[in-house]
Amino acid sequence: MSLQIQIGDITIHRIVEQEAPFFDPLAFFPTLQKEVWEQNLAWLQPRYVDPASGKLMLCIQSYLVRTPHHNILIDSCVGNDKPRPTRPFWHMLKSDRFEQGLAATGLAVSDIDYVMCTHLHTDHVGWNTRLENGRWVPTFPNARYLFADRELAHWTQRHKENPDAYPWVTDSVLPIVEAKRVEMVKSDHALNDLVQLIPTPGHTFDHYSVQVGKHGQDALITGDMIHSPIQARYPELGMMADFDSKQAGETRRKVFGRFCDTSTLMCTAHFPSPSTGRVTRWADGFQFTDA
Ligand SMILES: [Zn+2]
Repeated sequence: MSLQIQIGDITIHRIVEQEAPFFDPLAFFPTLQKEVWEQNLAWLQPRYVDPASGKLMLCIQSYLVRTPHHNILIDSCVGNDKPRPTRPFWHMLKSDRFEQGLAATGLAVSDIDYVMCTHLHTDHVGWNTRLENGRWVPTFPNARYLFADRELAHWTQRHKENPDAYPWVTDSVLPIVEAKRVEMVKSDHALNDLVQLIPTPGHTFDHYSVQVGKHGQDALITGDMIHSPIQARYPELGMMADFDSKQAGETRRKVFGRFCDTSTLMCTAHFPSPSTGRVTRWADGFQFTDA
């Protein structure tokens, strides 16, 4: 399993917290027709779909991007000790895989300069915090956490209306705000000439992806603008947790149209290992090929 990618003078490490069959595809993609799904199973199995359970094979992971200037953690998985009553496989997790994965990169929590959350869903914010003497404290003591301003406002408001429905905002987002570690940015923010946020709205209100590297030697850390290569084949196919599936489909068409048939490496959040690849055209959609 490839966990390290070199692109010019940038190194990208994958830190995998979980990799397993997770969701029933017809529930995960609510508008997916059974016949269409079955027509595609030949290429989806066994890598993207577990033949035994019929469930989608998914990774939960972070990308650690090392540039000559900064160590940047993009998305922070599910985290430990977090109550997630509606998701048994994430509820009160006690796993050493994230910490072991981070240690394998040769870096410690204190070496992380920035934590970027592509969006504020439960499986992208978990290790933002850890439990210390009964309190949620920032896991990365020297990091600034970059949240898109409208994404943070959106979740803060929803949480205010119904805190019990959004436990990850309680334990993994608001403690970072209270600790004054947040840097609120626009979702097209440029950190410098090597790290550029790209707005990819739809899955959530103000979702961003992160382009790293220089022209011709670059990668796009997609976050959840895509969950499975069947959404490349059919860009309009929405997933169950989308804020606006129509907008998410328009985002996929736009982003894949821009990066297909280029050398840009797509680093997806949830595709099974190696999770990275390149995009080419396929009929009126797109094909994702491992790389
Ligand atoms: Zn996700």
